[in-house]
Amino acid sequence: TTRQLIVSEKLAAIGEITAGVAHEINNPIAVMQGNLEVVRQVMGDRADEARTEFRLLDEQIHRISQIVTKLLQFAKPEEYAGFLERHAPTDVISDTLPLVQHLLNKAEIVVMREDRATRLVLMNRTELQQVLVNLIVNAVHAMPDGGSLSLATRDEEQDGDKGLVIAVSDTGVGMTPEMLDRAFDPFFTTKRQEGTGLGLSISQTLISRQGGKISVESRPGEGTCFTIWLPEAR
Ligand code: ADP
Repeated sequence: TTRQLIVSEKLAAIGEITAGVAHEINNPIAVMQGNLEVVRQVMGDRADEARTEFRLLDEQIHRISQIVTKLLQFAKPEEYAGFLERHAPTDVISDTLPLVQHLLNKAEIVVMREDRATRLVLMNRTELQQVLVNLIVNAVHAMPDGGSLSLATRDEEQDGDKGLVIAVSDTGVGMTPEMLDRAFDPFFTTKRQEGTGLGLSISQTLISRQGGKISVESRPGEGTCFTIWLPEAR
């Protein structure tokens, strides 16, 4: 469709510009980080008086560098591609959960698992973990007052191709049809300070590179379910 065409042209253009800009931003960030450390040392004991300001500076510099890293990942996914291995998706989920456990505990979110997939997927482990972390962190953001996160796997065929599904669902705030329509668009975010709007578009890129698909269903006030389908590793 025309819209897909516009989006892919937009992506290509963003990719080229972004990679250049991101590299340029990295250097001044490193200089700022280094000099901040020097100032702290020169101030010695007095640095304590500006503790809050130092923390703010650290945090904001960290935030910029995170955004730059995400942009680079988004603009040049090939440079981040690792080697492909066969994985049982349930093992990857088990490895991923500890990375986000503190967030889940803090938000009082209960995790439910249903591991039924027997097939393996061919994917870079770190990338699959990254996708899962993106989806789980979004689920946490959607459940500020707690709730339940369900992680389910099952074998499934799509259009005659053998594969499997990883479903990540939450009982959070959900999305309106307008939000659903734009959720995977690069830079679409409803989180002013915290969001980059890149999590889902990066996830989509990573999954479709392995011949998979990612889709979403949601109802405002009820919750959201992301479904990843990946072809079986042969
Ligand atoms: P970011 O999290 O930085 O905003 P994403 O691409 O990961 O970027 O998500 C884009 C938007 O999609 C979010 O800002 C949010 O509005 C919506 N969204 C994603 N996941 C969920 C979810 N589980 N529940 C409700 N809304 C969600």
